[in-house]
Amino acid sequence: MKLFRISGGIHPKESKELSADRPIERLPLASVLRIPLQQHIGGPAVAVVDKGDAVKKGQILAVGRGMVSAPVHAPTSGRIVSIGRFVAPHASGLPGQTITMRPDGRDEWGELPAPIDAFGVDPAVIAERVAASGIVGMGGATFPSAVKLNLRNRHKLDTLVINAAECEPYLTCDDRLMRERTAEVVDGVRIMRHGLGVGRAIVAVEANKPAALAALRLAVAAGGFADVTVVEVPTRYPMGSEKHLVQTLTGQETPARALTADIGIVVHNVATAFAVYEAVRLGRPLIARIVTVSGGAITRPGNFEVPIGTPVSHLVEQCGGFRGTPERLLLGGPMMGQPLASTRASIVKGVNGVLALAAAEAPTGPIMPCIRCASCVAACPCGLAPFDMAARIRKEELDGAVRIGLLDCIACGSCAWVCPANIPLVQYFNYAKGKLTAEQRTKHKQEETKRLAKFRADRLEQQRKAKEEAMARMKAEREAKKRQAEAAARVEVEG
Ligand code: SF4
Ligand code: SF4
Repeated sequence: MKLFRISGGIHPKESKELSADRPIERLPLASVLRIPLQQHIGGPAVAVVDKGDAVKKGQILAVGRGMVSAPVHAPTSGRIVSIGRFVAPHASGLPGQTITMRPDGRDEWGELPAPIDAFGVDPAVIAERVAASGIVGMGGATFPSAVKLNLRNRHKLDTLVINAAECEPYLTCDDRLMRERTAEVVDGVRIMRHGLGVGRAIVAVEANKPAALAALRLAVAAGGFADVTVVEVPTRYPMGSEKHLVQTLTGQETPARALTADIGIVVHNVATAFAVYEAVRLGRPLIARIVTVSGGAITRPGNFEVPIGTPVSHLVEQCGGFRGTPERLLLGGPMMGQPLASTRASIVKGVNGVLALAAAEAPTGPIMPCIRCASCVAACPCGLAPFDMAARIRKEELDGAVRIGLLDCIACGSCAWVCPANIPLVQYFNYAKGKLTAEQRTKHKQEETKRLAKFRADRLEQQRKAKEEAMARMKAEREAKKRQAEAAARVEVEG
């Protein structure tokens, strides 16, 4: 298959050797699981269990709310200890609504929905099962997967792309998944292709995963699956960015702020495909995921199948604890991962890695003035001028930054990685985007308040008019009756 070159991108040290050869392990259950109700983009789920309830593995704990949301299920059997706010797996460390459960050690499944005849049903049935199973984008985006499958209703689609690039350094969980559960992954890919209503699926794997590439190709050839093509893409960060992957595979550029669905392509992560296989073939909801635990400050790096809600501290403990004091603690990869405020936070559906980086792996230098070397421009895969955007943001000229492309920035971190002046460029961009979103929210709220106030004033005016009219009618009726009575009295007297 012919590939197309994308501009920009970088080659950071891969550091995948720390965990790439470690098979997926299951660890002893933590004594307590904390399951946040907001593990996805969209409305938080709403708890349907109470403190003290006994629950079975796979039982629904919280239902999705609204069109874009996802339910949450019990990762094992046990008892609900509390429902309340607890530290969220987020850089802010702010608390979020969380269900806390204590496993009973029996790991007993509840009643599960029956498996589906994957290729015999209407695509809508696949999307319904994916929605009911709480599956979200497991590459980190956490967008509810059923919403993406349903894009077939609004877009003319022809291709499903499975993002198996795993371009972030250190992470190897997708690599291990493809090598160890190959048949299930391929089946999941084909089910998603059917669910999306398209004729072909392309699985894109970076060249630095030869064993995964070989395993997938073998499984596809053995099954005679003409609808799936496995493609080796160059190892170049950020190959896993949706739009850049699509451009590499098809040569088609997705316009700024448009979706890849606008050019007929939907992208899903490879771990999502495995979750879809489990949901459709086994009736199992998304209650566990594979996580890479790695970095120079971890005693025993590896890949682990982790129940959702497992505290990071338990995972680290099972890996032999920290070696020294980590310089950086992250959820996800070193380029786009979230700094972890507390190891009490839990593993959620979108977490593919826990990294504890030693000082040598996370060098920090003094921030110096920009020397206009343009390295950041050359590295940017979106064709932006990061130094210029940062300068405008520093002067609080957010509109100016937007005019030169701030909203097209995918926060990949390539510019900051190459900057010899150690300027935290991505932090500037995230700060500015956050501020713009907050401003937009305030503006929206003000407009909504104005709209509601006008609506209320109009309603009161209508009520006032209706009341006046009713009173006028009643007065007219009274006068008419009075006239009638007077006329009747006159007739009696004259008679
Ligand atoms: S973080 Fe934004 S500006 Fe920097 S390289 Fe990535 S896309 Fe370009
Ligand atoms: S890489 Fe750093 S120093 Fe060079 S132009 Fe960009 S911001 Fe300035």
